[in-house]
Amino acid sequence: MTVDGSKILLLDGATGTELERRGVDISLPLWSARALLDAPQVLHDIHRDYLAAGAGMITANTFRTHRRSLAKAGLGDQAGALTRQAVQIARAARDEHKPDALVLGSVAPLEDCYRPDLSPDEPTCRREHAEMIDHLLEAGVDLLLIETMNNVAEARAAVNEAQGRAPGKWIASFCLRSDAEPGILLSGESIRVLVDSLIDAYAVGVNCTAAHATEAHVAALRALLPDHVRIAAYANIGYADETGNWISTDAINPQRYAEYAMQWIDAGATLIGGCCGTTPGTISAISAKIRRAAADT
Ligand SMILES: [Zn+2]
Repeated sequence: MTVDGSKILLLDGATGTELERRGVDISLPLWSARALLDAPQVLHDIHRDYLAAGAGMITANTFRTHRRSLAKAGLGDQAGALTRQAVQIARAARDEHKPDALVLGSVAPLEDCYRPDLSPDEPTCRREHAEMIDHLLEAGVDLLLIETMNNVAEARAAVNEAQGRAPGKWIASFCLRSDAEPGILLSGESIRVLVDSLIDAYAVGVNCTAAHATEAHVAALRALLPDHVRIAAYANIGYADETGNWISTDAINPQRYAEYAMQWIDAGATLIGGCCGTTPGTISAISAKIRRAAADT
């Protein structure tokens, strides 16, 4: 379901930082998974608010429900149950508030998103992502969202497992460097070497990079991939500096974020949403701007 009068599909915005904004504890190691135990109604409300803001796709809160993350809190054996619960909450919100929307299942890096050096070896990545993907598909997600991938080996492992289980029903999105030429993963490797693995994707994207640094990555992905592969972009309202401190940018203003989003659309993206720090206000600002642009043409 596209935004009226346009070819653009809207994703939702952040879940983890939005839970925090609404007063839910998201401390590590459980991070956003804690809401499944402590605050399922808040999570439902966040999904509802993103749908009301214009999202046609919402992402289940499964970013940190793979076994490896949960094991750090002694809950590894609950990976299947918590993943299922997260998907059920998203599906219930969808069914109640916007039945034609899609529910995406988040497949995140097994270790810290910003630490490609911690990523396990490829056989381990394959095994662990396969389990996560099985849990998501059993729970009934419409699409898999492999996101914030920061290095070639782990991305390839997750993509191969997704393609083997749900051909064409997966999105692969990458965390790319803002201090290098476009299309360079946090690991320093080029996304170019993955192109052959990505041609069956529903979409390929960039996420969790600063909004102001995203347009060049969108253009690079559009140039690298065949036309039938949609390009996705969902950025942060800021970035972590060398010491890990969070620096917010002008993208914290939903109107400004929406202006960046229009640049990504001009550069070839057709799936647009928000990552860390974005809110339902961000998504509704993008939705309004897209409608206005479509009405003007
Ligand atoms: Zn993010």
